[in-house]
Amino acid sequence: GGSGATQTDLLRARMRLSLQEHLWEFYQSNVNIPTEEQATARRAALDICAELRVFLHAKLPDMPLREMYLSGSLYDDLQVVTADHAQLMVPLILEKNLWSSIPGEDTIMNVPGFWLVRRENLEYFPRNSSYWDRCMVGGYLSPKSVLEVFDKLVAGSINWPAIGSVLDYVIRPVVPSETLTLEVQYETDRRLYVDFLPLLVMEDGTSLIAKPHRLAAERHENLWRQSFRVAETARLRALDQEDGGVRCTCLKVAKAVCKLNPALSRLNASQLTNAILLLSEKEGDWTQEALADRFLQLLRSLVGHLEAGRLPCALNPKVNLFCELTEQEVDELGYTLYCALSDPEGLLRT
Ligand code: GDP
Repeated sequence: GGSGATQTDLLRARMRLSLQEHLWEFYQSNVNIPTEEQATARRAALDICAELRVFLHAKLPDMPLREMYLSGSLYDDLQVVTADHAQLMVPLILEKNLWSSIPGEDTIMNVPGFWLVRRENLEYFPRNSSYWDRCMVGGYLSPKSVLEVFDKLVAGSINWPAIGSVLDYVIRPVVPSETLTLEVQYETDRRLYVDFLPLLVMEDGTSLIAKPHRLAAERHENLWRQSFRVAETARLRALDQEDGGVRCTCLKVAKAVCKLNPALSRLNASQLTNAILLLSEKEGDWTQEALADRFLQLLRSLVGHLEAGRLPCALNPKVNLFCELTEQEVDELGYTLYCALSDPEGLLRT
């Protein structure tokens, strides 16, 4: 009868209370990175970036690039567990009249969120009118070929031991690496991984990055990936600022959980960010006291999205952020998260 319901309610309330405490404790001890550690990692990344700028200007003065810059969670205070990675953004300059972008949904691949970049006006501006024509494959700018250009430079012609000894770091390209990554050992027990990320900013502001489609069949090879990172991170932060909310905290806890649990390693920052943005559309209470409730709701919503095989991007609902997971991965993630709903604290045991 009635008393039964009350007891369950009490039990639920107590579980939530302790989950709440455990989440904050987990945040302090596992998620949050000491300020000093973050500062040292940023310093190391900045040193490398500065060296690379000098090297590229000297060695390849004609390569049309805008200034390279560092980005990623390390710079947005969204990195978790250890300060160990950053992206080095390398913006290519494309001639407006020679290149145009075609959204993935308008191509035979039909993948929203990916784009083709087509060479235009070849009859008036023949091959090699644009520096980047050397990376043209079948009439399109190939991200793979662009990455190869940088790979040759970074892995082949830069004297990393020399630069490393000047900076007092041990630097070496990670091989094999599909993303083009440098490993920087900046203290005996601290390593930083820096990914090169070539980037196109189209006329309408669309950012495209040279990060291949994961299930890259050959026909996907020319696809550029649209990046929503700047906009989605800004939106999350703005929402928190409006109401003093804990969405970013919730994101960091979720990121750490996925980083520390191998069964969840397939979930990335963008998927988690968008799941929280979608949840924010329905749920208004993001106060500190609501962290446990929102965290549980996030898990539940992820289970739902996995069941549907679809996580729409909050900034463009046509984009399915689960489109690069295999069916088996979707099942495994769904199963792990479903089980976690009845024992969420199990996720925090490391
Ligand atoms: P974290 O690596 O999980 O801490 O998450 P981040 O928020 O730093 O995201 C980094 C990932 O997002 C990398 O895999 C990048 O390839 C990808 N990414 C997509 N767009 C961008 C972008 O505009 N900047 C950066 N830094 N990374 C991006």
